[in-house]
Amino acid sequence: MSALLDIRRVYVEPEAAALPRGREILGNFPGAEIVEVESHHRIPELYGDEANVARWVRIKTEALVLGVKKSLTARPNGRSADFIAPSTANGCAMACAYCYVPRRKGYSNPITVFANIDQITGYVRRHAGRQGAKPEPNQVDPRLWVYDIGENSDCSLDATISANVRDLVELFRGLPNAKASFATKYVNRDLLGWDPRGRTRVRFSLMPAADSKLLDIRTSPVAERIDAINDFVAAGYEVHVNLSPVVVRDGWLADWAELLDRLGDTLSAEARAQLAAEVIFLTHNDRLHQVNLGWHPKAEEVLWRPELQQAKRSETGGWNVRYRNGHKGGYVAALTGLLAARLPFCRIRYAF
Ligand code: SF4
Repeated sequence: MSALLDIRRVYVEPEAAALPRGREILGNFPGAEIVEVESHHRIPELYGDEANVARWVRIKTEALVLGVKKSLTARPNGRSADFIAPSTANGCAMACAYCYVPRRKGYSNPITVFANIDQITGYVRRHAGRQGAKPEPNQVDPRLWVYDIGENSDCSLDATISANVRDLVELFRGLPNAKASFATKYVNRDLLGWDPRGRTRVRFSLMPAADSKLLDIRTSPVAERIDAINDFVAAGYEVHVNLSPVVVRDGWLADWAELLDRLGDTLSAEARAQLAAEVIFLTHNDRLHQVNLGWHPKAEEVLWRPELQQAKRSETGGWNVRYRNGHKGGYVAALTGLLAARLPFCRIRYAF
């Protein structure tokens, strides 16, 4: 298991405990206290208390939730993937200051794993079957339907807890018209032995080391992620880079130039030939801002910049902020120009 986790307590829906994957996961934590819960959504001692900041990391490290994913849907996406597959997990043991996952789920946000993996893989197989061949190339992929399997968690870390992610990688290996994809900030070299045969795209998230040190709490260092790329390509993964979130601050472009140069110096010919990037500038949220002020005010000095940002009402209430119209286009052009100059072999799938 990852050094990030030291599971002491597993909150379990009885239905999940009865499934083979549920039993398997519980068997991995024989010393943990088992707490039966009615619903993985409603565990007040984990999710309720936004003032719980000091306890978050302990909860993320020590608590695991085991549930059943009830509603199975594949949502159309069009940016990082064609479809968002039903999650096999949500929550995360890492603690990035800008992470949007806890905005929906409460702030301590430990990992919840879903035990009904056979239903999930069955659903994805049938969904992909109904799509037939991809009619035309798009920026997501020229040939295959791409399913994001890690929208609400980090699959590399999830793979230290259960075989769910491996089951998905093996499923996509056998589908004629589809591939899996997930973004990650964690290097899990166990994945190198899974033989994905090009049908799983790993998107390593990268940002300059100075930003990552401040914002990417508990993740694998950026240098380690870059160093892993060649090995993942050699092991049969497609590897793209997810340049996000891009944070505008004094000296940001110079630091991005350094990062891109390091990437260029490191990549093998094989990795270069298949590389593509997605570029996503920071969005933030006033509620997360307030929460972060309680535990990590230094991060907010770069994340919360009202003089550079504009606000828009979010669907769930509160305000989402992003870099101002008029300025943002210039930032995007500056970074994509830098990418074209430093890594001319790297296709930019999208930038916004
Ligand atoms: S690794 Fe991803 S899911 Fe985990 S805290 Fe960071 S941004 Fe959120």
